[in-house]
Amino acid sequence: MNSLMKDKNIVVMGVANNRSIAWGITKSLHNAGANLIFTNRQERSKQKLEKMLAENDIEAKAIVSCDVSDDDSIVKAFQEIGEKVGTIHGLVHSVAFANRDELKGEYADTSREGYLLAQDISAYSLVAVTREAKKLMTEGGGIVTQTYLGAERVVPNYNVMGVAKAALEASVRYLAEDVGKYGIRVNAVSAGPIRTLSAKGVSGFNEKMSVIEEKAPLRRQIDQDQVGDATLFLLSEMARGVTGEVLHVDSGFHIVAGS
Ligand code: NAD
Repeated sequence: MNSLMKDKNIVVMGVANNRSIAWGITKSLHNAGANLIFTNRQERSKQKLEKMLAENDIEAKAIVSCDVSDDDSIVKAFQEIGEKVGTIHGLVHSVAFANRDELKGEYADTSREGYLLAQDISAYSLVAVTREAKKLMTEGGGIVTQTYLGAERVVPNYNVMGVAKAALEASVRYLAEDVGKYGIRVNAVSAGPIRTLSAKGVSGFNEKMSVIEEKAPLRRQIDQDQVGDATLFLLSEMARGVTGEVLHVDSGFHIVAGS
């Protein structure tokens, strides 16, 4: 336990279960003394989250529902957060979605509907939540989203999600410029492959994991805790000079030619 985030109110979006990257982030933030507020999409996942929090002795300042595909839901969620905790100092955006049948085969076969869906939930949502979160971030702070190498390079089967992540990373830069004047920083963590519910939807995911052990400089897998600690760093004062950045937490895989 440390006090890096003592008295900081941080909103965490995207805990689905104990494999979620957002759960690794939750544990890192809790260990750093943050006050945690959660948003979740469904009542079912709220119950699961409450159970996980109780089992790990983590207190939630609030749990509010928020469907990021719905502007009203986002506005209401942040109003509720404002009423319950007042000022917030950080936001974790760990949310994405694409149709499973478009995470295989050829990118050229992506449907218009599937393209828009992936962009809406996985990229535009950061824009919409930043707009609402900044109203509560009156003392400045950090926003951190989660991205993947498929934004920068062609990763087989990642397809429509890779293009959504490219939009997400560009949004990080544009949003960083917008909110920098309010003392708010916007960054992304680009994690190597981790076995989660969302990752299961990407065809050939196991190969993406094994190649990290073979080719990445550190020759080992990434886990939720490593991403949690890197996200904690970006949210904390330790990263006060860092914004608009994509920090790779991938055992160095992205630097290897032909990887
Ligand atoms: P996950 O399935 O545990 O988390 C995805 C979350 O998105 C879930 O909590 C889900 O409820 C939420 N979500 C989806 N649609 C939503 C909506 N309309 N409104 C609100 N929430 C919604 O999987 P994860 O791997 O932890 O994914 C978290 C983030 O990390 C995603 O952005 C993902 O692309 C990114 N990421 C994952 C990996 C990996 O290998 N797992 C690697 C790099 C980046």
